[in-house]
Amino acid sequence: MSRKILVLVLSIAFLGSFATAQAATEGPMRVNANVLNVRSGPGGNYAVLTTITRNQVYPAIGWSGSYLKLQIGARTGWAHGLYLVPTTTPLFRVTASALNARSGAGSQYRVLARLGSGTQIAVRGSNGPWRNFNYEGGSAWVHSGYLASVNSSSGSSSTPAPSRATSRAGFIQLASSGTGFYSYGQAYKRWGTPRLIYAIERTGRSWSSVRKTRFGVGNISLQNGGYMAPHSSHQRGVDVDIIPQRTDATENGVTIYQGAYSRYYTQVLIDRFRAQISTRVILFNDSGVRGVQYWSGHHNHFHASVY
Ligand SMILES: [Zn+2]
Repeated sequence: MSRKILVLVLSIAFLGSFATAQAATEGPMRVNANVLNVRSGPGGNYAVLTTITRNQVYPAIGWSGSYLKLQIGARTGWAHGLYLVPTTTPLFRVTASALNARSGAGSQYRVLARLGSGTQIAVRGSNGPWRNFNYEGGSAWVHSGYLASVNSSSGSSSTPAPSRATSRAGFIQLASSGTGFYSYGQAYKRWGTPRLIYAIERTGRSWSSVRKTRFGVGNISLQNGGYMAPHSSHQRGVDVDIIPQRTDATENGVTIYQGAYSRYYTQVLIDRFRAQISTRVILFNDSGVRGVQYWSGHHNHFHASVY
C-alpha cells in the first residue's frame, strides 16, 4: 500500500482508539473543548443548534456513531463524543409536567424554558431549595421540589454484595462508579469474572488512599463473553482497559504523549492493581513504566489481562 494510504489508515486507527477510550454513552458528560457545537443530528453535516463551553456538564441520554445525544435544558442535541468526558455530577429528572427553568434562584426571576416531565439535568450547585444546572452555554435554576435523583444506585456499590446478579457465563457487572474508580464505557461492556471485578473494586479502595482523583475503567467483556468489537480480546471476562493518570487532578483521558500525563501516578496505579490480582500481561506503550509490554494503540489506556 502507498505511503499516503498507510498514513491515512494509521490516523484513522489512532482517532478510533482515542474515541473508544474516552467514549461513554450515558450519564453526566463534561465539555472538554473551549466551545463545542451542538447539532440537530449525529454528524458534522447537521445544523448547529447551540454551543456549549468548557467544563459545563450535560446529561448524555443516547448515542449514534461517535456522537452523543445531550439533554440541554428543554431540548436535545448532538455533540461529538471526543470532546465529552464522563464525570460524576449528580443527575436529576423533572417530576412535574412543566417545570420552570429560571435565570435566578427565585420565582421572581425570568423563565428561560419549561422542562417537561422526565427531562434530565446535571445539578452543579444550590441556593436554598433552588438547583443550578448548565443550560445553552450558560446556566439556569429550578426548584428542587420537582426533581428526583436519576443515578442513586451509582457510587454506592463499592462493597460487593453476595446477592449480586450473575450472568450465564458467571460474570458480574462493574458499577458505573465506586470508591476510587469510575467507569467511562458502556454498562453492557462491563461484565467480568468476579475475581477481576472484585480486584478492580479493591484496587479502587487502595487507590483512594493514594490520590483523590479516581481512575477510569473502560471495557471489560459482554455479559456472557464472546466477541466484542473492536477488540480481539475482552472475550472471557479477564481483560480490562484503564486510562492513565494525569498530573492534574481532573478525570479526563490522556495519552502518554501529552504533558498532562503522569508516569508516576500511572505506575503507582498499575502497581496497586497488581497487588490485588495476578496479571498475565499489561499492554501499555510508555516504556518508562515497569512491568508493561508495548502493543499498538495502547497510548491512551493500559490493558490488563488477568488469570
Ligand atoms: Zn483492551
